[in-house]
Amino acid sequence: MRIGIPKEIKNNESRVGMTPAGVFELVKNNHTVYVQSGAGDGSGFFNTDYQQVGAIVLDTIGQVYAMSDMIVKVKEPIKEEYGLIQKGQVVFTYFHFASSETLTEAMIDRKAICIAYETVEDEDGTLPLLTPMSEVAGRMAIQQGAKYLEKPEKGRGVLLGGVPGVAPGKVLVLGAGIVGIQAAKMAAGLGAHVTILDVNMKRLRYVNDVMPSHVVTEFSNEFNIRKHIKDHDLIIGGVLLRGAKAPNLITRDMLKDMRPGTVIVDVAVDQGGCVETTRPTTHENPVFIIDDVVHYCVANMPGAVPYTSTMALTNVTLPYVLKLANLGWVEACRTDASLQKGLNIVEGKVIYKEIIEAFNWQA
Ligand code: NAD
Repeated sequence: MRIGIPKEIKNNESRVGMTPAGVFELVKNNHTVYVQSGAGDGSGFFNTDYQQVGAIVLDTIGQVYAMSDMIVKVKEPIKEEYGLIQKGQVVFTYFHFASSETLTEAMIDRKAICIAYETVEDEDGTLPLLTPMSEVAGRMAIQQGAKYLEKPEKGRGVLLGGVPGVAPGKVLVLGAGIVGIQAAKMAAGLGAHVTILDVNMKRLRYVNDVMPSHVVTEFSNEFNIRKHIKDHDLIIGGVLLRGAKAPNLITRDMLKDMRPGTVIVDVAVDQGGCVETTRPTTHENPVFIIDDVVHYCVANMPGAVPYTSTMALTNVTLPYVLKLANLGWVEACRTDASLQKGLNIVEGKVIYKEIIEAFNWQA
């Protein structure tokens, strides 16, 4: 099969759909891989790295789309790319169709085979192609939180790990899912005192089993949240209700109970956030302050660490890319139930029912 790796053209996106290691595997399996010149630059993979493992580097994005049976990328296609997508071409990427009717209509119009990373689903309901980005964001949340706790950044001026003779900082983590556990692990590693809250006892039991004793689990309810926000320095929002807006566990009136310079990193911002005052921010302008509380609400945190994020993403996408390339999309999706769940639009027909529901369309 001919596989194309275009350069991402969405604003501020430096990740790339495949690393040289992925190209190596595909070439080994007798496939042809076209990489757009400069596609990997932002992630630290250069044309020569791809050429050394057998890729053919093409000058333009138009050439990559025109010559490929399957396009592997990171972000959903944007307007400039719609016209490049061909009838029957497989496009394997994050789409998030339910949040854009324009994109959905464009892909129906192009009659492509759209397989969405975010809906590939394992038997136990986990989303294997979303997990690595939550891992990145959870770990990064502590890095960013620690920075914004510094005085010049308007934080409380607290060093999370403390020093001998001075108690460490306190981190409150809302949600013990992927983001929450990775954040708790990083904070614990720095020596901070960590309190992690969830409504799922299985998650709390797991955290209690695997984390050191300075990571304390408590059930998530309003009483406990109101108690802890008063003396925790850094609050991480990692709550998710599948397919729904995140609940506002911290309301506007609660900010005045926090100490000035408290930092909130609301990772759940992409689902509306678990703090009432959350609004999406960007890497250029990541924070805002309300009632002396610093809010960090960047909606695409992994975008700031494209090397790590590209590696983490392509580690999990490559087995599916290989399967699609080796078997063709029909057979690959027929024999792999997880991948089949990724099929969203097939040759002009929407087959993922949540998309139809999102726009109140007739099935
Ligand atoms: P997850 O499903 O693994 O974990 C969510 C956890 O929230 C679950 O353990 C659930 O039991 C818990 N929860 C639900 N209601 C709760 C409540 N009332 N109190 C406390 N906990 C509660 O999800 P995840 O992969 O960790 O993702 C968390 C959020 O982070 C999602 O919204 C995800 O989209 C977002 N995210 C954002 C970025 C970014 O760049 N900002 C990157 C990756 C993920």
